[in-house]
Amino acid sequence: MNQAAQDLTSPSGAVTCEKCRRGTMAAARVERFSTSAALFGYLLLAIGAVPVLGAIACGIMTATSTLGQIADSKDVAPAAAGAIIAGGIGAVFAFVMFMGGLLPLVAGIVLVQRKSVWRCSACGYIYDRT
Ligand SMILES: [Zn+2]
Repeated sequence: MNQAAQDLTSPSGAVTCEKCRRGTMAAARVERFSTSAALFGYLLLAIGAVPVLGAIACGIMTATSTLGQIADSKDVAPAAAGAIIAGGIGAVFAFVMFMGGLLPLVAGIVLVQRKSVWRCSACGYIYDRT
């Protein structure tokens, strides 16, 4: 007689907790890792977002000013070359800043991920809802 273990579904359709058999499993979303890991993740997001957003702004400004300078100096080759070099330096700087911010940003995104779970209303037992 092992029917209780086999049949975890109550007549109402709610799934009974397989651990305590008192509570019912409710859909919930929890941090993939832990609360402190998620907090650290938000910190990393803030640290990473600044240089990444700065790099994007810097890249746009560099591109606009470079194109503007090239347009202004269409008859003067050395000036156009200078604008391209300056633009290139700006682009490299923006790229390095972007990559520097990307690592904490990606790590932060991973840490703050939440997962869908079933959580017991009585004992708090959690299992993945996949
Ligand atoms: Zn339970």
